[in-house]
Formats: sequence, structure tokens, C-alpha cells
Amino acid sequence: MIRCWLRCLACACATLAAPGWANEIEDDLVVTPPSATTPSVDDTSDDAGPPDAAEAEPPPIAADTEVDPAAPPADEGGASSTSDEIGPFRFLDTDVLPGTTRRLSWVASKSFLGISVPTPVLVSHGTRPGPVLCLTAAVHGDELNGIEMVRRVLYGLDADELGGTVIGVPIVNLFGFRRSSRYLPDRRDLNRYFPGTAHGSSASRIAHAFFEGIIRHCDALVDVHTGSFHRTNLPQLRADLDHPAVLDLTQGFGAIAVLQSEGPPGTLRGAATEAGIPAVTLEAGEPMRFQPEEVAQGVKGIRSLLNHMKMLSRISLWGEPQPVYYESDWVRADSGGILFSRVDLGDRVDKGDVLGTVTDPITNTRVEVISTVRGQVLGMALNQVVIPGFAAYHIGIEKSRDEVAEEAATTGESPPESEVPEADVEEAPSPPPVEAPEPPPEPLPDADERPE
Ligand SMILES: [Zn+2]
Repeated sequence: MIRCWLRCLACACATLAAPGWANEIEDDLVVTPPSATTPSVDDTSDDAGPPDAAEAEPPPIAADTEVDPAAPPADEGGASSTSDEIGPFRFLDTDVLPGTTRRLSWVASKSFLGISVPTPVLVSHGTRPGPVLCLTAAVHGDELNGIEMVRRVLYGLDADELGGTVIGVPIVNLFGFRRSSRYLPDRRDLNRYFPGTAHGSSASRIAHAFFEGIIRHCDALVDVHTGSFHRTNLPQLRADLDHPAVLDLTQGFGAIAVLQSEGPPGTLRGAATEAGIPAVTLEAGEPMRFQPEEVAQGVKGIRSLLNHMKMLSRISLWGEPQPVYYESDWVRADSGGILFSRVDLGDRVDKGDVLGTVTDPITNTRVEVISTVRGQVLGMALNQVVIPGFAAYHIGIEKSRDEVAEEAATTGESPPESEVPEADVEEAPSPPPVEAPEPPPEPLPDADERPE
């Protein structure tokens, strides 16, 4: 069997076609009974809260391997065996043997040595041919749910039963994570600098090194995020469904809602997709917290995806209907005060419904926040003090793709894919030029709805 997905990375297939995994390893699909080390997709009992079974009995993991940052990328390694006899996976200057899981580390470059702790990277290399699926989390250092998702997925895998390879980077932005901050030390948002450049700002250099050192090895990418700045998100995918391979990826997640979105420039998802690596953002919950339910849903979705990509030898998909939203809107507070919500994430709302109230603590006046659209609450602000214009509720609007396109044609406006709420977040102050001596100012209070 030919592992064309690896070759595709080097060839000119930057235009995203149907994914290779859809038919490449069909012959290798073997249905096996569930085992203790490879929990079923439907088995979420161990996801309800830490510690779980996987934590109690982690698979053997080899010792850390320090990476020589000066070494060239090693994507032409031994993983490209040409038969069912799978070879080692050459990655970060290490041969990961079939049927093993390794804990490696990555650093941006020599220039960051001494100030940066190497970033842990988990690699599980299977015993059957298959694609390389990458899971990244905490690109924003204060978004914690994804860290736990990556841990559970990687430590729950049995590499002996795996087809292909799973690469997990639980904390991409270690700088931010250590300071409980969304940003890099210079207050730049790393997720606006991908794929980066070798000689740009520090953010751009880190993005470039990460993209070349890790992401280029991936055949598909799931980048996990949460809501930002005291907002929370229903577990959902953000994806550019215009790309067939991205669409296929979203369909692997089972019942998780999907929001069509090109995403702001510079996101890891957008850069990967642009480079021919189908990618989605998985949003779940709020920053600064580990939330068992959101984590469990994300893990379930990723395991479902592993089945969909035929990397797990079990046919057990999360088969509930998957709502897809081609349009969404933010409902804003028109007055200042304390926001109290009357709806929950996932609620279906109608135009005219009261979503919450804003009470002025001094004058005691109370104003209702009324939904302007019909749809599902995909994201919302936590109860907090808000100012007029504050984006409080993110509603996925129930329209078909054709309806949305038709409306765009009649009104002459650009298609809604470019108008999804990510655009709203660009109210944030622009980063300074590379040579600017001062760090950029603090984000404005409303520079907040940036969901990824
Ligand atoms: Zn994020």
C-alpha cells in the first residue's frame, strides 16, 4: 500500500482534494473488540472528570528526546514505507517505532534557547499505514480544555492498534500558559501570525518554526480553542467548508455543531488549510478552566474522527445529526451594567426572545437583551459587567447554504463566510510594526470575541 498522504505534502496537491485516508487503508480495517487500553468512541465514562483510567495506567512512553533546533526538518524520514510493513516515523530527529508512543520536545529555534522550555510533543505511531493526524492546543496560553483533550486522546491510544500516526502538542504557547495569558510575552496573539516568517517579529518566527517543524508533517489538523475573555463556547467546529477535505474532516466529528468560517488571517487553521493540510478549529468552553463536560465532548469528537479516518479499528461513530451553520450573528448589549443571562449554551432561540438582562447597579434600571435572529446559542458571555455594544450572545442562524448564498446575491453583500463573528474581533488594536520598541497596548474591552 502506498502512503500517498505523505507524498502529497511534498507534491503540488495544495489544492485540497478528497482525503487520502478515505480509501487508502480500507483493506487494513479490522474490527476488533474494545480493550481496556483503547476505549470505545461511545465510552465516555472515563471522560467525565480527571483522573481517568488512561491517567491511572498510561501506556509506556519513552524518555524525552531533546531536539537540535539547528537540524533540518525531517519529513522525508522512514515513515514513508511503501508496503503494509510500516517503518518508523521520523520526526523531530527521532525514529518513533511502530506500535510505540514517544514523548519528544520541540523548541522554536536556537535564538529561543535559554529563555524557552522545550515544548512537549506526544507522538503515537501505529502498526498499520495511515495518515498523520495532529492535535494542537493552547495556542492561546489561557485556553486549558484542549490541553486535557490532547492528553486523554494520546494516552488513551494503543499504538499497537493504531493505523497511521497521531501527533499531539498539548501546549503550543508555553510562554502564555506559564503566565495564564492568551498572548506571547510581547502581547502578540500567536494565532494571527501563521504560517510565519523566519525573519519577522518574535511571534512570526515562533509561528514559522512551529509550522515548519510540526505542522508540515500533518495530513490533517485539529486545533483546540475555547471562548475568550469571559466568554464560553458550545463545543463546535470552525471550518472552511468550501474545501472538500475540510468538509470531510468536520463530518468525522459526529454530532458536534459546525460553523462555516474562513477565520481571521494568520490563524493556524487557515495557514494549514492554505498549505493543503485540511484543518478545523475545535472550540469548547471557556478559558482559564478545565471543564469536564466540554473536555469529554471534545475527546468523543476526536475519537470519532480517528474512526472516520480509519485510524482506529473499530466502527463506532457518533452518529447523531450534526448541525451546520453557514451564518451566525452576535447579539450585543445596548446598555451598560451587569449582564445576567437567561439562556444557556446550546439553547434554541427565536427572534424576540429575551436572552438576558443588563442591570445598572447604580440606577437600578434594567434593560433586556433581545435576540435579533432565530437560531442556536453557540457562544455567550459569562455574567459580568458590560458596556454598551458588548457582544454578548453568538447565535448560529439556521439557514441552508443555498439560502445564505441567495441572500448574499440579492443584497449584493459579500458572502456571510467572511462576515462571521471572527471579523468582529478585529476591533482589537493592530499589533505594532516589527521594529516598534513598545509592546502593543492592552486589548480593548470589546476586543474579545475572537474565538480562535
Ligand atoms: Zn483560542
